[in-house]
Amino acid sequence: MTNKKDYQISLRRYFVLLYLIIFLITSLFGMATIVFLKECLHVTGSFTLWLLIYSIVILILGALIMWFGSTHLTKPISDLNQSVKAISQGDFSRKIVRKSYPKDRATYHNEIDELSQNINQMAEDIKNADRHRSQFIANLSHELKTPISSLVGISDLLLTDSLEKDTRTELTTILQSESLRLSRLCDDILNLTKLENHLSPQLESVALDEQIRQALIMLTEKWKNKTIHLEFDSEAVMCQTDPDLTMQVWVNVIDNAIKYSSDQVFLNVDVKQATDKVLVTISDKGIGIAKENQRHIFEQFYQADQSHAQEGNGLGLAIVKKIIDSLNGSIHFESTPGQGSRFYITLPTNQ
Ligand code: ADP
Repeated sequence: MTNKKDYQISLRRYFVLLYLIIFLITSLFGMATIVFLKECLHVTGSFTLWLLIYSIVILILGALIMWFGSTHLTKPISDLNQSVKAISQGDFSRKIVRKSYPKDRATYHNEIDELSQNINQMAEDIKNADRHRSQFIANLSHELKTPISSLVGISDLLLTDSLEKDTRTELTTILQSESLRLSRLCDDILNLTKLENHLSPQLESVALDEQIRQALIMLTEKWKNKTIHLEFDSEAVMCQTDPDLTMQVWVNVIDNAIKYSSDQVFLNVDVKQATDKVLVTISDKGIGIAKENQRHIFEQFYQADQSHAQEGNGLGLAIVKKIIDSLNGSIHFESTPGQGSRFYITLPTNQ
């Protein structure tokens, strides 16, 4: 490795140096003009003294102008430099404030202002992403803690020799359901991470009505302890989409419709084709969602209804929303507490 010396040369010095060079060239040019006037044109008079005075005044004035002018340019650059350094060290609250003149009627922008604005925006984005990441980790740790501590507790109990057969079976069932919960959580987090990394959807031709039918069969099997009154009204719909992703949408939304209903589930699924999109409506007559909770249900780990908290992890609809966004579709819903919910999902038939 070569041991190079490192000099820091301020921009201000460059400007002054540049000015001196310009000054030197114009002075030389002035002197050449005098010589030409005297020698070639034989013009008489003392130009030299005037040229000297003129040069000194210009030199001082020019250097001062250059010095203050370059300060105007280099000061914001060094402010920017400080801020970027602070941001890179994790101080995302650092803001670059450009000088403004309160009496001015208009605002003025130059490239440095634009750069400052972009850096401020970048810091804000990083700050949000950082907050989001910390929140995600906190929520995740909380979600992991419950099943893991019950797994530890139950496996301790199972080691007890004197345990009766029935108790042992009961504990093993809980152990199994908690392990499943943990595995579901891991799957959901993997899915979310994949979606957040913007992996592009794998498009193929999918018979959506058939896919929703399969999801319904799978879920009625899963929820066979409930009585499901199903109305399935579907047109044959072919869609250019990612089958793995759309399947997750149907499974999550229909699963919720059943989960948040009493033992008597009234489920209505409607699939309609419009010109270039497919509209899927999934309605239930379950517990519904309170008005104040409605705007949060697509947030990660958000659970509006704590009585069912053990049956989910609050990631299902966050995944659904991300999938639908990545497929350029839309999702919205209406819900009345005590009467039920209706989710409207739209997907383009051709991506
Ligand atoms: P979870 O795993 O808790 O079901 P989701 O992300 O799927 O999480 O849903 C977020 C929250 O939205 C749920 O905890 C629930 O309170 C509410 N929710 C979602 N779908 C319905 C529905 N069909 N009926 C009532 N509440 C619902």
